[in-house]
Formats: sequence, structure tokens, C-alpha cells
Amino acid sequence: MPVVFLGHGNPMNALLQNRYTDGWASIGRSVPHPKSVLAISAHWYIPASAVTATLAPRTIHDFGGFPRELYQVEYPAPGSPELARHIRDLLTPVSVGLDENWGFDHGTWSVLKHVFPTADIPVVQLSIDRRQPPVFHYEMGKRLAPLREEGILVVGSGNLVHNLQTYAWDRKELQPFDWAVRFENRVRELLLSGDNAQLIAYESLGHEARLSVPTPDHFLPLLYILGLRRDDDQIYFPVQGVDGGSVSMLSIQIGPH
Ligand code: ZN
Repeated sequence: MPVVFLGHGNPMNALLQNRYTDGWASIGRSVPHPKSVLAISAHWYIPASAVTATLAPRTIHDFGGFPRELYQVEYPAPGSPELARHIRDLLTPVSVGLDENWGFDHGTWSVLKHVFPTADIPVVQLSIDRRQPPVFHYEMGKRLAPLREEGILVVGSGNLVHNLQTYAWDRKELQPFDWAVRFENRVRELLLSGDNAQLIAYESLGHEARLSVPTPDHFLPLLYILGLRRDDDQIYFPVQGVDGGSVSMLSIQIGPH
């Protein structure tokens, strides 16, 4: 099974059809039909490691100030307590809680709605433990490697460049900032050359990194995907573009060719 990093961006994409959502739909058609999906979303960034363990996770509208119709979107995919327990076991010795309160946040549902529109594949979310350093998240990804052999699709959902201070909420066609383009290009080069160490040490990539990753939450899902990468994998970029000047929509598909 491939592994995928999804650049989710503006939650309004859940309701739209555009080049980003078309790209997400193409990912859904290109991967083998997964038994289940494990999503690691920027929006479940908490001081703990936890995995959703309910049969019918709720759709969480975790944002403010958007049109009413966005709050009415539901993604009714089932959960999988069995997969949650399996993930908890794989991540030993890290202590992972079985969570019955969280569900699908918009980092998961606003994209999966396009990737798997029928919402019939079970989905489990794993939190990002905000207390931990970047290398911890890479190691967590490594421990999840057996899932690929079991037909489970692991997706990380964030944005490689995510600066909402400079994001053009009204003018979506704003040209990307130079620093955003430079940082995204740097990440691409490091991905293509397989330089995981520099990607884990992204905080040392200078001025562009500080502007592109002002907080770790949207970058860290990438490190799980890196941990799941194998030497013989190919890398594709099924969705590209920078939205509103400072949100990279780059999606990364890693897998057999
Ligand atoms: Zn987000």
C-alpha cells in the first residue's frame, strides 16, 4: 500500500470542486482499495498519544466563521476499534490511549470526502503528541510500517507551508510568497534525495522554514509518512500549488510504481 501526505488547506475545499479536489479524487482512484485508513491530522495536536476507537466517529467542525453549509457536511465513515487496538500495540512502548471522544476533524474529512467519497472505508485517527520532538513522530511512522502490508492506507494531513498570518483569505489567486516557494522546493529536493535527517531537522532550514512552519502542527504529519517510506518506493506529487500565497497544497504519494 502506498502512503500519502495530503495538503488539506482551506476547509471550504470540502464543498468545492477545483484542481486540488480533483487531485485528491485521483489519489483515491490510483491506490489499491484499502481495508481501512489511518489518518494523522494536524488538527488533533494534543499533549498525548491517542487513537480513535469508536465504531461511528463523529464529524467535527473544528473551525469558526465559515458558511453554514460547511457545518452541515458529514463524513459518515465507520471507525474500527479493532484497528485502533492494533495500532496501539504496534506503537508500544509508547503509551497510546483508546479515545472515545474525538472523531474526524476537518484535516481528515474535508479531504477524504474527495478521496473516498462513498465514506464506506473504516477510518481511524491517531493524534500528534505536541510534547514530543520531531524525531519522535518519525519513529512513530516507522513503527506503523506493518500496516502497509496489511492493506491499510496511512495518510498524513497537514500543509508543508502553512502561514495563516500572510494567507489571503479574500484573494485566493495571490502569487505565492518567495519564501513559501523556496521552502516547498527545498522540501521536495530533500524528499527526492531521501534526506530524512534534514527533513526531521526542518527547524534548522533557516528563515524560510520559520515563515513556512510557524507552528509544527501542519508539518509533523509529513514525518510519519517519511517513517513509512521504503528504499524502493517512488515519489509522486499528485496535487501541487500554493493557495492564498502561503499555504502549500502539495500532496505527496509514496509507494511502489
Ligand atoms: Zn489545517
